[in-house]
Amino acid sequence: MALIVQKYGGTSVGTTDRIQAVADRVKRWRDQGDQVVVVLSAMSGETDRLIGLAKQLQPCPEPRELDVLLSTGEQVTIALLSMALAAQGCPARSYTGAQVHILTDSAHNKARIRDIDAARVRADLDAGRVVVIAGFQGIDEHGDITTLGRGGSDTSAVAIAAALKADECQIYTDVDGVYTTDPRVEPRARKLDRITFEEMLEMASLGSKVLQIRSVEFAGKYQVPLRVLSSFEEGEGTLITFEDTNVEDAKISGIAFSRDEAKLTVLGVPDQPGVAYQILGPIADANIEVDMIIQNIAAQETATDFTFTVHRNDYARALEILKDTARDLSARQVLGDDKIVKISLVGVGMRSHAGIASQMFASLAKEGINIRMISTSEIKISVVVDEKYLELGVRTLHEAFGLDRPEAA
Ligand code: ASP
Ligand code: MG
Repeated sequence: MALIVQKYGGTSVGTTDRIQAVADRVKRWRDQGDQVVVVLSAMSGETDRLIGLAKQLQPCPEPRELDVLLSTGEQVTIALLSMALAAQGCPARSYTGAQVHILTDSAHNKARIRDIDAARVRADLDAGRVVVIAGFQGIDEHGDITTLGRGGSDTSAVAIAAALKADECQIYTDVDGVYTTDPRVEPRARKLDRITFEEMLEMASLGSKVLQIRSVEFAGKYQVPLRVLSSFEEGEGTLITFEDTNVEDAKISGIAFSRDEAKLTVLGVPDQPGVAYQILGPIADANIEVDMIIQNIAAQETATDFTFTVHRNDYARALEILKDTARDLSARQVLGDDKIVKISLVGVGMRSHAGIASQMFASLAKEGINIRMISTSEIKISVVVDEKYLELGVRTLHEAFGLDRPEAA
């Protein structure tokens, strides 16, 4: 007998028919003798709809009240699924986050889980019931409802699986697993049977939207076996493993990309201690996250150039701030470009194979794609290129590294 946590996303519970289908699946697992805990999202579109209602009344809704509102979406689906299960003779009980003490900090709209009291869930499981828990929500120490940020049900599921020491946490979604890249950009993208946790973390942070990044971090911290699979088709999905060997023995496992990038450059800043801090300090103070950072070797002895990237939504604000800083530093010029994207190769196999970067750069050069920035870590290489080259760049690299072929080496 195994203890399985299953999380179903918004499209999987978007209609009563689909909720019925989820009930069928849950019941099959239980009839097999497993204990099942289900974590649900709101019906697809519901969270957006609720945000829309809030904004009609307050342009920047009060975070505490927004959480009271947004948490209702998941309360609807858990009750409906429990009814669907009961109708099939499968005893089930639904719980909100507060009811099973999903204790979070008080950062409304982006709260972090601190603790879960698993005793109540265990008691139900031991009594033969399926437990259905609302994802995305918790409660803080003052008893106020909190939510975990968009896509947060993934994190709820992983946290609950960790607390229960579940045998597996299954994330059911509208795709049948993790792909080598987004199939909408490269139709020859291939589903991976396995991916290492480290690779998944890079893929999630570099723009692949399959899993909320915090859920992957959580899975890593507590070593929760995680599987991504389709709620509409049968299949094994993709298993996220903790072995540090690349199972398919490929150099590269996937290509992630992000369209939401912008870069800013300040030319001719003094080459002296404290300048990087003077440039990025005010950006950080404005709560703008900086991704890549490049500082040139000073061309003349006294001045250097400094470039960094931010999320495109923060571009205008970052540019304003940088212009002020440039004035204070008597810098020569400020440049900005918000028509750029980031493409990243990810693979633990990179560690043991030399020459991946040069192969990547050669492939892009052959297509006439100019690389504007480069950054690397042990298991990824990212390049910034002009927006118009996104599709071509991704397809070129997918082909060059043989990602459409399972036996690629
Ligand atoms: N319903 C929430 C959202 O749309 C949480 C989730 O689905 O994971 O972001
Ligand atoms: Mg989701």
